[in-house]
Amino acid sequence: MNIKKIMPNINKYIDKRKPYIKPSENAHKGLNVPQIVFDYGSIKTKAKSLPNLYKYMFGSLKEMKKTYRELYKQPRNPSKKITSKDLGDMKSLAIELGASDIGFTVVDPSYIFNNKSIIYPNAIVLAMEMEPDIIKTAPSKSAEKEIFRTYYELCIMVNRIKDFLNDRGYNAEAGPSLGGEVNYPLLAQKAGIGVIGKHGMLIIPKLGPSLRLAAVYTDIENLPIENDNKHLWINDFCKICNQCVKKCPGGAIYKDTVIFEDGSKQCIDYKKCAVPFSRNNGCTVCIKECTFFKGNYEKIKKTIKKW
Ligand code: SF4
Ligand code: SF4
Repeated sequence: MNIKKIMPNINKYIDKRKPYIKPSENAHKGLNVPQIVFDYGSIKTKAKSLPNLYKYMFGSLKEMKKTYRELYKQPRNPSKKITSKDLGDMKSLAIELGASDIGFTVVDPSYIFNNKSIIYPNAIVLAMEMEPDIIKTAPSKSAEKEIFRTYYELCIMVNRIKDFLNDRGYNAEAGPSLGGEVNYPLLAQKAGIGVIGKHGMLIIPKLGPSLRLAAVYTDIENLPIENDNKHLWINDFCKICNQCVKKCPGGAIYKDTVIFEDGSKQCIDYKKCAVPFSRNNGCTVCIKECTFFKGNYEKIKKTIKKW
């Protein structure tokens, strides 16, 4: 099954006569999670997991279609300055919809996947928790369901926040959690929410790596953009930890993260990951075995200070 044919693609909706933001020349290709499940999963695993995921997978596709269909549904005279009340109300709405963390940054075009584009330059980055008690059971049907639940809820969240900003007179573009246009862990790291661990996922103080990400793009110019990242010490911790490397059933996590000539990084061999991911309920062992999932951020930070 070619998921690309049923996955909505922003490129079909971008009006090339209007300004839009292209990826830079060194941008990388994005991963298509549902496609991985279909390409690498056996018929038996597909038959087992599809009924479990159907509601969330197809619900996400429906939300994505709404996202792209409404790309140019924007206010007539948009404002580029957000009031503190509107910003506060937007954050409250995000929390009400299940956001655990919110950050703001300017999108670096090298983070846009090389076959995608966006229309607005600034990002509101949103993290949603994957319930730790469920993730602890990974690999399991319930953990896989929890992954796809967060994808789905995030797809709903970004559409609702886009609508909210439009109603208050601002331009906004929803960035879906599944099949999005931008590398979200890099975006969230740039927004200072957390740091990408050796397993390639974002680690944040509240949740460790037990989260999924999405974004809303906008041309609002006075967002509280964070240029500092207080969590960079996690990089030093990962150098000596390596728990995810040891526990990964696919041997997919590089002990020494690959660094390309342009400075971009690759943490995982995605082909090696794809088999356990698609055949064993979304795997997720790297999240549940991460020291930041099992332990407390502040306590781990104290241990590193003693080194
Ligand atoms: S999902 Fe599983 S196979 Fe993939 S990197 Fe994580 S632990 Fe390894
Ligand atoms: S398990 Fe250890 S090395 Fe892997 S991401 Fe977590 S802290 Fe870093």
